[in-house]
Amino acid sequence: MERILVSACLLGLKVRYDGKEKTNEELVEKIKDYDFIPVCPEIFGGLSTPRVPAEIRENKVINKEGIDVTSNYNRGAEEVLKLAKKFNIKRVVLKSKSPSCGKGKVYDGSFSGNLVDGFGVTAKLLMDNGIEVLSEYDFLGGL
Ligand code: SF4
Repeated sequence: MERILVSACLLGLKVRYDGKEKTNEELVEKIKDYDFIPVCPEIFGGLSTPRVPAEIRENKVINKEGIDVTSNYNRGAEEVLKLAKKFNIKRVVLKSKSPSCGKGKVYDGSFSGNLVDGFGVTAKLLMDNGIEVLSEYDFLGGL
């Protein structure tokens, strides 16, 4: 059975900035065929739930109050990478659009719901280290 990391919010854990989860029932069913480890890089980076939402702007992560939280995001990404290396993880399933977990598209930093091309901090660090990042849609589309 392949071991895989998965964004905790997709499994129903209330770790999102708004104190809610983002269960994807189809994913929950499919992930049962894997030896999965839930992760939330923002929690691993020392942030609380709930927390002020943040978006990526000019290579930094800035929250809606204007506070630079990049170091928390970097720390969380490093912790997820540590876990991936320790357990020999080759693929991860991360929540789309998040400033930590997003792959390919993230919010543009204006808190207006606009998306731009880009990657969340954790997604990018994992990819830079040779780990395949899948969004929940990639995973459900035919892994
Ligand atoms: Fe979900 Fe990732 Fe955000 Fe945590 S950091 S709530 S796992 S999208």
